[in-house]
Amino acid sequence: MKYRILGKTGEKVSVLGFGCMRLPTFNGEDGQIDIEQSVEMVRHAIDNGVNYLDTAFFYHSGNSEKFVAKVIKDGYREKAFIATKLPLGNVNCEEDVEKLFNEQLDKLETDYVDFYLLHAVNNDSWENRVLKFNIIPKIEKLKAQGKIRHFGFSFHDDLEVFKKVIDSYDGFEFCQIQLNYIDTDYQAGTEGLEYAASKGLGVIIMEPLLGGKLASPAQSVCDALDKSKTPVEWAFDFLWNKKEISMLLSGMGSMQMLTDNLGYADKAEVGMLTENETEMFINAKKAFDKLTLIPCTGCEYCMPCPEGVLIPKVFSAYNTITSGGRRFVKEIFPDIEENTLLCKKCGKCEKACPQHIGIIDMLRQVRNKF
Ligand code: SF4
Ligand code: SF4
Repeated sequence: MKYRILGKTGEKVSVLGFGCMRLPTFNGEDGQIDIEQSVEMVRHAIDNGVNYLDTAFFYHSGNSEKFVAKVIKDGYREKAFIATKLPLGNVNCEEDVEKLFNEQLDKLETDYVDFYLLHAVNNDSWENRVLKFNIIPKIEKLKAQGKIRHFGFSFHDDLEVFKKVIDSYDGFEFCQIQLNYIDTDYQAGTEGLEYAASKGLGVIIMEPLLGGKLASPAQSVCDALDKSKTPVEWAFDFLWNKKEISMLLSGMGSMQMLTDNLGYADKAEVGMLTENETEMFINAKKAFDKLTLIPCTGCEYCMPCPEGVLIPKVFSAYNTITSGGRRFVKEIFPDIEENTLLCKKCGKCEKACPQHIGIIDMLRQVRNKF
């Protein structure tokens, strides 16, 4: 495993972090984590040098933190950093910060977290939660008590808001942004990455595979990539090549994915790509952009829908068909039309979507297409 320093935190983190939001689950709508298989996988990652576990209040319907508590027993607490996040949407008064944090400590069965992030900061949550409810001084207090070691934020909004957040408070030590060879100008993007690093923040990357879309992309995208590496390895190397990036998070859902990713991480180097290879990603992005896919990453922040619309599944089916993966939608989602018709347009999902997808209208468009 390769390690890099995470900005102002000064911590040496593995270039590959384990995202605990897409763990193996049992079949069924409740998506219950397959604890035995998942614990084995995450511990295997730690045994092979991964030293950062990323979880959050909401992941796996609130069960991810409890899962991490199981992983870190038997001496594993000392071998890996734990990162979790404050669910800003649940903060409705100043007292909620400590209340939620203590609940998270209880679920994690630990006395402290190594990395604590404001979850999914955007302009609205920054103004109407973080500033309005004095969240930062509350976190500083928890940090002074030794319950939080490092403080940062994860981000989903545009570049202007990203710079505003960084410039508003110099106590942030690191941030987590969405980046991959498609999203170079989306949200914080490459310019945001360079800005954060120039201010001394460590940068962690999420969605390196764009919700899995870059793992087995459409033929036109594959054709643009050199055949000497898999699409996943290319997507990761695009990021590891950059000196401003300390780590990328991968939500690994199987032992095979983990084994592959560990192999890729072993070769990660700053400046590892040639000029030709850097050019190659521009062509792959051009091919991808022509596909006009719905920018859903499958994060499930919009779920559950009170009416039972399976939003990420609908969008995933649309994207699979549109990118030429399968010819018939009935093979992957036979009830897609009926399911989209359940939508009562309450708008709950749109408020939660970090990709700012106009979900209601998009469901209508998907229904029309099929
Ligand atoms: S707008 Fe439609 S899809 Fe979204 S939460 Fe409401 S009912 Fe569900
Ligand atoms: S629609 Fe938005 S919130 Fe829902 S899974 Fe997709 S990206 Fe996530």
